[in-house]
Amino acid sequence: MNIAIDGPAGAGKSSAAKLAAKKLGYIYVDTGALYRAVGVAALRRHIPTDSAKDVAAILPEIKVELAFVAGEQRVLLNGEDVSDEIRLPEASMAASNVSAIPAVRAFLFDLQRNIAKKTDCIMDGRDIGTVVLPDAECKIFLTASPEIRARRRFLELEQKGTPVDYETLLSEIRQRDFNDSNRAIAPLKPAPDAVILDSSDLTLDEVVERITALAKECAEAEH
Ligand code: C5P
Repeated sequence: MNIAIDGPAGAGKSSAAKLAAKKLGYIYVDTGALYRAVGVAALRRHIPTDSAKDVAAILPEIKVELAFVAGEQRVLLNGEDVSDEIRLPEASMAASNVSAIPAVRAFLFDLQRNIAKKTDCIMDGRDIGTVVLPDAECKIFLTASPEIRARRRFLELEQKGTPVDYETLLSEIRQRDFNDSNRAIAPLKPAPDAVILDSSDLTLDEVVERITALAKECAEAEH
């Protein structure tokens, strides 16, 4: 059984999917981390992350893997654990840029498919229900207004002791939404058979509850 969760940056996909996976006994796969790892590889080589030609040229030199340590996903770039580095703000925009490059999407496709084939998982991303796992038993499109998403991110960073100005976060979110929704390949959009879940007025627990309830409905529908 596979659950695909897609949606824009900051809708709460990863926090909710992680908790729901724990409750359901599934593994949680964060596919954004893969694009982030490719972004970091490009940043480290000082090549422009929006150049299809330059980024495609480094793909043969890089190996991206996911490891699951005590149920937690770690991302390896040529064997090095880059799980922390991929969360730096510059890695977000780099990921958004490299993810618009068809060669990068093709490069990461099998990795995502093979994990889903092997195990029950909740996989989150932008194109999971539409492209990566079009046959997923359960598809959810989790969204929230840009202002709410920026506010959540603001509070999260403030709590971490690394505050970032709210307006900056809001404009970054709008920019990434625009990039992700308007790219030619695998744009962010709900699959026709996805359930749309707007988390703007829901707490994290409520979102998790809706996801687990939907997962149960999907599992029953399969039997
Ligand atoms: O989910 P996260 O914000 O970590 O993703 C980083 C970037 O990777 C996104 O802005 C998006 O451009 C890209 N991405 C993608 N397809 C996915 C997951 C992420 O294009 N399945």
